[in-house]
Amino acid sequence: MFNKMTLRDLELREKRVLLRVDFNVPLNSNLQITNDKRMRETLPTIQYLIEQNAKIIIVSHLGRPGGKIVPEFSLKPVAEHLRELLKKPIILANDVAGSETYKYVRTMKPGDIVMMENVRFDAREEENDAEFAKELAGVADVYCNDAFGTMHRAHASTCKVADYLPSCIGFLVERELQVLGGALDNPKRPFVVIIGGAKIKDKITLISRLIDVADVVLIGGAMAYTFLRAQGFNMGRSIVEKDKVQLARLLLEKAKTQGVKVVLPIDHVVAGEFSFSAESVTSSTKKFPRAGIGMDIGPASIRLFKYYISKAKTVFWNGPLGVAEFQKFAKGTNEVAKALADAKAFTIVGGGDSAKCIEQLKLQDKINHISTGGGAALQLLESGSLPGLDCIANKN
Ligand code: AMP
Repeated sequence: MFNKMTLRDLELREKRVLLRVDFNVPLNSNLQITNDKRMRETLPTIQYLIEQNAKIIIVSHLGRPGGKIVPEFSLKPVAEHLRELLKKPIILANDVAGSETYKYVRTMKPGDIVMMENVRFDAREEENDAEFAKELAGVADVYCNDAFGTMHRAHASTCKVADYLPSCIGFLVERELQVLGGALDNPKRPFVVIIGGAKIKDKITLISRLIDVADVVLIGGAMAYTFLRAQGFNMGRSIVEKDKVQLARLLLEKAKTQGVKVVLPIDHVVAGEFSFSAESVTSSTKKFPRAGIGMDIGPASIRLFKYYISKAKTVFWNGPLGVAEFQKFAKGTNEVAKALADAKAFTIVGGGDSAKCIEQLKLQDKINHISTGGGAALQLLESGSLPGLDCIANKN
């Protein structure tokens, strides 16, 4: 499906490699990293570059400093952590492709690593500015993008820079493309897709696209209520996107025409108010209380969803099945996460809230692929490409 240049396609020996990574890791108030998954997943690429005797110049963003130097978004804790992970010195320049970066790069030896400061300290980054991209490119001989989580953004360091250097993707991006692209191209069947979350409007293209490739689509979360409304059910005071009911009806018709089964919740955990401590009852779709608010899928729906997951050969999951931030209403989401962990299928989790849930339940080792990029994974599945990927050279 993708024919992009990879690290293996370029001569890297003693070359200066500008490596764009996504080290946008969560930090606590003491600026300590609370989850280093994105860093650990980039290690194979960095290690390969070290083995190839390349000189590695790392570029990343962290948070949203808004184009200004904001000390709490410095990459200092990230550089320190990378030092521990690699057991190797890492030099952090205090600028972005400025005089200090150039000074350190000039004296680099093969296998050395220099990291620039947060690339979003320069406002030109998010403007995809050509001059800034040239400054970034000026420090290196080769550009490698391994920042999957940022590939849906056309920024100077994820896109424009590839105009000025031979370019390739890193191993993390290669794996994401293999798994997500493979799910679209040639999934083992039955292919079961589980979509949750709040708004149909955000995922409409995704759902439509997945109906084209999946055998069964399980829909939970608030967006299920708009689909149920489209089937004529009263959903009380649950979130229903009234202006999307017709669209939901069309999607259900499309699925029917294509022989794809769309499974909606048959029962619900219903509360009288939207609150973490609200009292709740279980109610079937047919007898949904007029004043009730749907907060989670009910026990019969959990069993039904689990049944389809157990029969699947490939499963893709994105989005919580209920208000999972409230512990009382997280059961549907957690049970689906556990069902994925127990499934015999090849399991793919599309980043974001679903990935967080898997990590909270410590099930990450039981899932085949957890995408490092929520937004990027969904955009790739929706449109079949990403701006940061389109910029990379194709293989000849
Ligand atoms: P998304 O970003 O589209 O994946 O949506 C995630 C959000 O959907 C979470 O904040 C959930 O609380 C919310 N959500 C899921 N189910 C419901 C529901 N039944 N009512 C309200 N919000 C929900």
